Amino acid sequence: MTTAFITHPDCLSHVTPPGHPERVARLEVVLDAVKDMDLLRVKAPLAAEDDLLRVHPAGHIAAIRRAAPQEGWRALDADTHMSPGTLAAAHRAVGAVVRAVDMVMAGEASNAFAAVRPPGHHAERETPMGFCLFGNVAIAAKHALDHHGLTRVAIVDFDVHHGNGTQDLVEDDPRILFCSTHQMPLYPGSGAASETGASGNVLNVPLDPNTGGAVMRRVYDNVVLPAVAAFKPEMILISAGFDAHGADPLANLNWSTQDFAWVTRRICEVAGEVCGGRVVSTLEGGYDLAALGASAAVHVDELMEAGA
Ligand SMILES: [Zn+2]
Repeated sequence: MTTAFITHPDCLSHVTPPGHPERVARLEVVLDAVKDMDLLRVKAPLAAEDDLLRVHPAGHIAAIRRAAPQEGWRALDADTHMSPGTLAAAHRAVGAVVRAVDMVMAGEASNAFAAVRPPGHHAERETPMGFCLFGNVAIAAKHALDHHGLTRVAIVDFDVHHGNGTQDLVEDDPRILFCSTHQMPLYPGSGAASETGASGNVLNVPLDPNTGGAVMRRVYDNVVLPAVAAFKPEMILISAGFDAHGADPLANLNWSTQDFAWVTRRICEVAGEVCGGRVVSTLEGGYDLAALGASAAVHVDELMEAGA
């Protein structure tokens, strides 16, 4: 068995204004970092309407489509922009994570990584924000439950920012455990430990700036991973942002590239114990190009090790 690597050239056609950190080159460095790896390479389909509707109202989806510019950019908020290629990219991003779930469920791959942009974990039910339009990973989780008939899935979000959008989309669904580690204080400001979801299905672990990889490893070993294992998910989804890296310009958690290898390995170990190794990971943030490439490479490498 193998690791599926799902992406689409349309994800390079989402162009942000000059100087914007969430830029085309991010995906280019990820693609370059894995180009020699023995992966099952799959082109992402466009998202099915039914999948978008699992978390976003029809009127909101229509409003996003209407907002797409014919040329230049349209700003949805101070951080979140659409270019003429954005709609296709956003639909491929959702389609990629859903396809990843389908492949792992069908046994076509042991696990999968969706290399996509725009990212998704800040997108709320009716509010695009933080570079995100649709809730990619939340949609994939709902798809695993509602389409494939799973009863419990876990989402682990190690992006340096709180996954407020994912939390908004899943916090009332007891079938989904959402765990997020993130720097606090930092954008978007949510993610306090007191935010626990409707049924205790949200676990937020805010981390102080400059705490580094040793604290992260303790938190995962003592808090996050035991909670995931106790939930007994039938699949684990990862919101894989690499902006906790020490080189990242947007945050200060100071994780190393090897910390991303470690956390990936440990998540895969838990998946091996509780859900047959079913892991679907999707790209979120990561804004230092060299750190992003190196971290994504070790992340995918660990998925391959676990899935071999
Ligand atoms: Zn982030």
